[in-house]
Amino acid sequence: MNHQIKADLHLHFDGSLPMEEAWKLVEKTGCNHENFIKSMQVDQNCHSLYDYLARFDTPLKLLQTEENLYKMAYALIKELDSQKLAYAEIRFAPMQHIKSGLSQRQVVKIMCQARKDAMLTSKIHVNYILCMMVLGEEKLTHDLNVETIQLAHEFSDQGIVAIDLAGAEGMAPMQDFQGLFQMAKELGLRYTIHAGESYGPENIAKAIEFGAERIGHGTSAIKDPHVMKLLKEKKIPLEICVTSNVNCEVVDQYESHPIRQYIDAGIIVLICTDNMTISNTNLECEYEKLMRYCSITAKEIEECQLNAIRYSFAEPLLKEQLINHK
Ligand SMILES: [Zn+2]
Repeated sequence: MNHQIKADLHLHFDGSLPMEEAWKLVEKTGCNHENFIKSMQVDQNCHSLYDYLARFDTPLKLLQTEENLYKMAYALIKELDSQKLAYAEIRFAPMQHIKSGLSQRQVVKIMCQARKDAMLTSKIHVNYILCMMVLGEEKLTHDLNVETIQLAHEFSDQGIVAIDLAGAEGMAPMQDFQGLFQMAKELGLRYTIHAGESYGPENIAKAIEFGAERIGHGTSAIKDPHVMKLLKEKKIPLEICVTSNVNCEVVDQYESHPIRQYIDAGIIVLICTDNMTISNTNLECEYEKLMRYCSITAKEIEECQLNAIRYSFAEPLLKEQLINHK
């Protein structure tokens, strides 16, 4: 498959660092190469959320300086360009990169600089989504989340196209985040929300009520016909990441993923990687697995690819250009 337009709308920066470029940042420290790879990537048969989440430790340790953030963002954009993606929305949570003294503003600024520089010599167009985080009760991250919203607004002319809510779904009720999305809406921000991944379909319904234009995962929608109907009628796409769902025990195996039922029910699905490095995947691998295990046809994949452009947060003119030049 190489004639279609490839776009990834659900791709976390920290879980997708190009391995060899990341290794360059640590090799001088005497770290063992094999151990380094194991600390960044799960086994291909991984069925453990615990093992999966542990793979964020190493990248997050690395991503605490402007220099490393710049190098890795630049390298990731180049990697996606070399995979011949036409468009990507890379997401990151600025608050995850402030442990060594950077401010969220410094993080966003250097990431935008890397994007600008990498795009100068690339075919791909990249935009960013800023993630707010759930790390426990809402009040734990409230002030940092407010700052993330304000930065998304401030940097909206530098490639920040939307916000998201990521982290430990279910550790706090979705309802508690309504005020933050209200604030985002008042600033004219657009958003996608992680919902129905490690929690039930009621979170998807809430996210739709808050005004989410897309849903991250939405794997549990299948459990509630009302939510299925809402997704279809409101044309709210699900950002589907099958390998990640298997690795994190959201589904038992590829064959039991509900993507087939979603397509049959007329729900728009987008094929995404979530964390390329942790899951050792890329868009081509995701397409292949969907065809092999989930009875998705090549034609349906093409439709998903077009939908990824149609339902992206890119400007209408860029969408038109991307679709016409495929
Ligand atoms: Zn995600």
